[in-house]
Amino acid sequence: MPIHFEAVTREARLLSPLKNFELDTQSIEHRRDPLTGRNVIVLKGRLDYVRKYIDSDETIIDELASSTQQGCPFCPDSVQTHAPKFPPEISPEGRISAGEAVCFPSLFAHGDYNAIVVPTHSHKVNLNQLRASVFADGFTACIEYFHRLHEWRPEVKNNAIIMNFYPPAGSTIVHPHIQALASDLPIHASDELLKASAAYFQDDGASYWSELVRTEEETGQRYLGRLGRVHWLTPFAPKGLNESQAIVSGVSDLSSLYPEDVDGITKGIVRTLGYYHDTGVRSFNIAIYSGPFGETSDYFDLNVRIVSRYGYKHNFVSDVWALQYLLDEQEVYEAPEETCSKLKKYFG
Ligand SMILES: [Zn+2]
Repeated sequence: MPIHFEAVTREARLLSPLKNFELDTQSIEHRRDPLTGRNVIVLKGRLDYVRKYIDSDETIIDELASSTQQGCPFCPDSVQTHAPKFPPEISPEGRISAGEAVCFPSLFAHGDYNAIVVPTHSHKVNLNQLRASVFADGFTACIEYFHRLHEWRPEVKNNAIIMNFYPPAGSTIVHPHIQALASDLPIHASDELLKASAAYFQDDGASYWSELVRTEEETGQRYLGRLGRVHWLTPFAPKGLNESQAIVSGVSDLSSLYPEDVDGITKGIVRTLGYYHDTGVRSFNIAIYSGPFGETSDYFDLNVRIVSRYGYKHNFVSDVWALQYLLDEQEVYEAPEETCSKLKKYFG
């Protein structure tokens, strides 16, 4: 059965003071994620209005970076002398390295197994300066951490890799860093995707992810391009603004990624961030959703999402308000098809 992209449009009506109190109608499009059924409200053409919240004050970002450099726990000298160490069952050497990246346990854990990966020595890096090798080193260190955990405790197989960049994205430390999370308990969003993917496979006898990639590649309106077996697109029902998503065909978990796959993921991230930088975005989140570590499935493909966040400046406003936080309704100010047409140039 083909994937059903469900959208309904409603209209908001008001007598607008901006139009001399004449009747104004605004289109409110409600989309459902074809797999999970989660809702998103698409407000086409609203991007110009919210631009003032997306823009950052570069002076304030520079001030934040320079005022936090002294005493930064993630700068190389501090990491060597002060970063926490893993217990010997995870790492007899205390920390895990991959290229420039260093991985160590979070000083204040957010989960049973929570490692921090500092992928670069540089304290402040602009979005257009974050190289693919920085992400590759960082993700490789996360995966090595998961391997060691899994060897020690095979039941710890639910993993996620996330990144928060700058305070509007929830980051308390300016220095670029990645978080690796693992537990024997499910991670909610990954679990939701896995369960919905298994149900789709059972009902349709095909992988939702293969169908999605095939459909998006055919229609092209949300398809950005392919790097090896990593397909990049803008999702029909995004979780956030300017979202791009990678789907690694035929790979269901982090233990099964080949270096070429990491290459396809990191290059796509760098291209997306290049677009963000050029459009004034300075803050973002990334998540990698994986199936259970060490298990392969024919119904789930590992995938990655990147979203842009609002800007950093005095009197900045969060882009997550009660609508998203408490009502679970996402909202974006541009159709994913339009985001795709702009972002596509960066994917060549
Ligand atoms: Zn630093």
